[in-house]
Amino acid sequence: MSNLVLYRKYRPQTFKDFIGQKHVVTTITNEIVSGMISHAYMFSGHRGTGKTTLARLFAKAINCQNLKGSEPCNKCPSCLEINGGKAVDIIEIDAASNRGIDEIRSIREGIKFAPNFLKYKVLILDEAHQLSKDAANALLKILEEPPSYAVFILATTEAHKMIPTIASRCQRFDFYKLSFDEVVEKLSFICKKEGIDIEKEALGLIASASEGSMRDAEGTLNQVLNFLPDTKIKAEDVQLLLGLVDINLVVELTDYLIKKDKSGALKFLNDNIEKGIDIPEFTKTLIDYLRKLLILKIDSNLINSVMPGETKEVGEKAKEQAEGLTEEVLKKTLNLLLDADNKSKYASIQQLPLELALIESIGIE
Ligand SMILES: [Zn+2]
Repeated sequence: MSNLVLYRKYRPQTFKDFIGQKHVVTTITNEIVSGMISHAYMFSGHRGTGKTTLARLFAKAINCQNLKGSEPCNKCPSCLEINGGKAVDIIEIDAASNRGIDEIRSIREGIKFAPNFLKYKVLILDEAHQLSKDAANALLKILEEPPSYAVFILATTEAHKMIPTIASRCQRFDFYKLSFDEVVEKLSFICKKEGIDIEKEALGLIASASEGSMRDAEGTLNQVLNFLPDTKIKAEDVQLLLGLVDINLVVELTDYLIKKDKSGALKFLNDNIEKGIDIPEFTKTLIDYLRKLLILKIDSNLINSVMPGETKEVGEKAKEQAEGLTEEVLKKTLNLLLDADNKSKYASIQQLPLELALIESIGIE
């Protein structure tokens, strides 16, 4: 299975199946129903948050000949042409690789002609902020007087780099990173459809590692399936494959910090280094965990938003450990660890900066 298989196979074909970005979906489906659509949209947000997918869905819906509410029918000739990737009136350009004036000029020429078959010509411009200055100016000319049948969707991961005169002509939507629950929901859906037996914790680890990008999460799931076909997939398999550090290890080390046990902390660290833990990954996990403790220390009600993917046991333990450390110690320790993380890249003994940070942290009065 190639990395893009699941991503393509489960790309939503209706708004109903699209997970996340409710604020965007609600507005654009209302526009579709009322027929009051704009000529230019700007979809901005992190990679893998559904900008292009939603742009394609929108292009399909406004061209569907048998729209049901705001949903494309996926059966009419327009929908079929678009789903088959054969629609010449839907133009997708990746500005990251086609930055030039020539592409925009040819669009400018092409846009003068009404669509061949569909109702609307739709131009989806990915990474639109990467257009060269000349190309952006040419695009602006088109946006100043767009033909009635033209719709432009400019997708960008860096909205602040868009030329303001272009941005101001677009209806703007900000796409948010997907929540942990949204990613898990989609991954569970895929696994169910594919008949894949996978532990809930394993899905949680994939979701956490994806940092809100559905495409990354689906790619990782693909990787896991390639690696472990035909078996029940456990959390520890995913941990191993992704090079993740077991959260229980940092929880245990934190106990030594609370007990102010320097010797115990150093022994624990060295034992685990001998067992092969990755020092930078371990440091990163420890920083991430202590950061969560600091947030819990400030407000323990934030547990669900701070630790959405952790088991109940880890959540309870985290609350307890947050009680055992002062805000001051947590802040200082985090700074020491951030420093150690930087230094370990150049240290002749890779674990030394981390050891020093732990010793110093335990020494804080
Ligand atoms: Zn249709």
